[in-house]
Amino acid sequence: KDRLFGGFSKTSSRLTENLTGLVTKAKLDEQTLDEIEDALIVSDLGPATAASIREKLSQERFEKGLSEDAVRKIIQEEITGILEPVAIPLEIDAFPRPQVILVIGVNGSGKTTTIAKLAHLFLEQDYGVMLAAGDTFRAAAIGQLKVWAERLGVPIISGKEGGDSASIVYEGVKQATATGIDVLIVDTAGRLQNRTELMDELDKIRRVLGRLNPEAPHDVVLVLDATTGQNALSQIEVFREVAKVTGLVMTKLDGTARGGVLVAAAKQFELPIHAIGVGETMEDLRPFEASDLAAAIAG
Ligand code: GDP
Repeated sequence: KDRLFGGFSKTSSRLTENLTGLVTKAKLDEQTLDEIEDALIVSDLGPATAASIREKLSQERFEKGLSEDAVRKIIQEEITGILEPVAIPLEIDAFPRPQVILVIGVNGSGKTTTIAKLAHLFLEQDYGVMLAAGDTFRAAAIGQLKVWAERLGVPIISGKEGGDSASIVYEGVKQATATGIDVLIVDTAGRLQNRTELMDELDKIRRVLGRLNPEAPHDVVLVLDATTGQNALSQIEVFREVAKVTGLVMTKLDGTARGGVLVAAAKQFELPIHAIGVGETMEDLRPFEASDLAAAIAG
């Protein structure tokens, strides 16, 4: 929690700096509203959110008096209102088991670490977990996932570098079913440079999985690196075309002033945000709590 707020306090202090001194007059005039809107945009909340908050503030009567705190409170409420509908944890509820979770995202986004974090979370909830090393493109990715599997004490299905990821996933589901595993978390290649290949690969995984269970994959979780700011938004757009993204995990919120991008993502895409990453260990996953984050961003 400290680390989360450590990270968010940077976001918050930036927004705070940007807001400080703006509210000096008796009412919010056009110029002040413009300046607040700019401050929100600079804080990565995105133009749509900034415009809607501006609109809200312009209609506000401030019956208890106009102050920076009053403005901040309204901003917080607006942000909470945007985040609340998308703050949806990843539940294990597939029947029959296993629930198959594909994890996608560009290399370096924190995909592998997030898989370990999710596995740890599900183990804590007493579910049986298995990993599948579906990113066969990079030998290092397979090795890294094996290290995590060992650390977590969970089984892992893997093949050789350059192997067929769909058959690894197929094998994974078969073994998971045979051994009563509740959740199979699948790593996938993060090659966005070659969109067609990636799309073909994900389609093939989907086809093969569909033969075993028409509901699978149950979840397609896109991992995003918060430090990339607005770039994270364009990644959502691209991955939504490549794969049927069902939810997001935003990582690296411990070291960034870019928490505002979560609000922009929520507003623009309305995809569930399952959790946030706040560090490099498997314990560093936090549930996505709308009002806490709104307070951290605009508090
Ligand atoms: P992948 O290439 O997408 O699988 O990315 P990795 O999981 O290997 O992560 C890339 C780097 O980011 C590694 O050094 C991780 O330790 C680091 N990392 C992942 N998640 C977080 C996070 O939430 N916070 C911080 N500070 N570092 C992270």
